[in-house]
Amino acid sequence: ATPTSIMVGSGRAAESGILFKGGEHLEGTHQLNAIVLDKTGTVTKGKPEVTDFTGDEEAFQLLASAEKGSEHPLAGAIVAYATEKEMKLIEVEEFNAIPGHGIESKISGKQVLVGNRKLMTDQHIDIGAYEEELSTFETEGKTAMLLAIDGKYRGTVAVADRIKETAPQAIKELKEQGLEVIMLTGDNERTAKAIAKQVGIDHVIAQVLPEEKADKVKEIQLQGKKVAMVGDGVNDAPALVTADVGIAIGTGTEVAIEAADVTILGGELLLIPKAIRISHSTIRNIR
Ligand code: ADP
Ligand code: MG
Repeated sequence: ATPTSIMVGSGRAAESGILFKGGEHLEGTHQLNAIVLDKTGTVTKGKPEVTDFTGDEEAFQLLASAEKGSEHPLAGAIVAYATEKEMKLIEVEEFNAIPGHGIESKISGKQVLVGNRKLMTDQHIDIGAYEEELSTFETEGKTAMLLAIDGKYRGTVAVADRIKETAPQAIKELKEQGLEVIMLTGDNERTAKAIAKQVGIDHVIAQVLPEEKADKVKEIQLQGKKVAMVGDGVNDAPALVTADVGIAIGTGTEVAIEAADVTILGGELLLIPKAIRISHSTIRNIR
């Protein structure tokens, strides 16, 4: 590899908004044959909005008050909705985030739980009667979260996040380049599959806990694949480091950008197949 052609390749990439941290990552990108994409903020815009709530107003007030303490994008959607409706939020006495599952908090002496099925079953709250309702939301690609107050189910909140407009075209190009495309998410399988279908991804790994994302990348590597991981969140950082090429979404967290080998500006997914094209032409010219 001549240093000059690597420099030219990196320069061309940078002009398009693809920032390689070092020339060696052009070589790594050239060798890729699988790519793993995080869902929220990578395939989708990461700006979820509340679409439904099945409980009453008092329940929503407690729900939004509890979520005020969370930094999760899902929480942001719920708080934004309450603000829009000019709902007064109540001071939280205790707050506890349960990564990959939800939150637990204490408000006006009441225990408020918000999260997925696992969170509810772990707390012995029976949600069997709401399974059908949950499935309906999830089939629509929405993330459904359950609310329980003092151990009793009080409603389901559904949140939807739109796919990036260029995601289907980017996925199509990646497949044409011979890459296996996989979506990885902490969200439930039904929601994940609905989103994957909208963008043309056939392989989905869902309900992955934040600390398990890197293990999933390793498993694919053990199948003999050279794997790129694309992500935006703090959760994605270990997987970005583990991957042969870590690609951060420029609009994502600083932690993800630091962990990655490449950053794509503006989160434009079409820049990924473009980066691969540039790597091919650069490396081929070298050999
Ligand atoms: P993602 O990979 O989509 O960022 P996470 O691993 O952060 O997902 O979360 C997985 C699931 O845990 C969410 O889909 C949601 O059901 C639940 N969850 C996480 N954080 C919260 C929260 N603040 N409020 C309610 N539910 C949450
Ligand atoms: Mg994300």
